[in-house]
Amino acid sequence: MGFSITSYFKGLVGLVYPDLCIACVKESPIKGDDFCVDCMADMPVTTHFNLEDNDFVYHFYGRVPIIHGAALLNFYKGNMVNTMLYRLKYERKKRVGERLGIWLGQEIKKSAFFKNVDLIIPVPIHRKRKIKRGYNQSLVIANALSEILNIPVFHDALLKHLETATQTKKTRSQRTLDLLNTLSLKNSDRLLGKHILIVDDVMTTGATLEACVLKLKEVDGVTFSLATLAITKTI
Ligand SMILES: [Zn+2]
Repeated sequence: MGFSITSYFKGLVGLVYPDLCIACVKESPIKGDDFCVDCMADMPVTTHFNLEDNDFVYHFYGRVPIIHGAALLNFYKGNMVNTMLYRLKYERKKRVGERLGIWLGQEIKKSAFFKNVDLIIPVPIHRKRKIKRGYNQSLVIANALSEILNIPVFHDALLKHLETATQTKKTRSQRTLDLLNTLSLKNSDRLLGKHILIVDDVMTTGATLEACVLKLKEVDGVTFSLATLAITKTI
């Protein structure tokens, strides 16, 4: 690959980036990376990229058709993935999303199940939340994937025009419908017949991704694959 403005700036970011592992925030990272040796060795990776039938796609059986779905890491309460995603979402540690997004992109690239994706759409967040958070973490991940996979990101095709109401005590189906009503499409003709990769930081019940698929399915001929940094697991 030749010189690019992005890699030039990434290089600069690397120079000033704090010298602690982004997972444990204690040890020094491996030279040229953001993780220390121990965290890298203990990273709870999934097998989703090599298995057509996995516990990610299982969440969408009988609900919405998808070509493939995968998460990079298993998220358990209190594990390092939990910590990293918290820092990405609430402590403005954008680098976590960039680094894990690059890793996710590499796994997608190697996988036999993510072929012929035309474009990437990040799960949108409401404008107010974006201001509070500093960025949309899903867009950070989508941009990293775009760089690795060489596929464009359509960041303004799917919009969240309403904030999501409190969701406690609702069934997944009710939550999905509520979420669907907060979403809208913009200039959707450009999506006609495309294979869309929808990207989010974490998959828990799958309601958010399902609502995004349902909204985008209003466009003729679209197909879907799904990818997240993490999948929530319970023991
Ligand atoms: Zn570490």
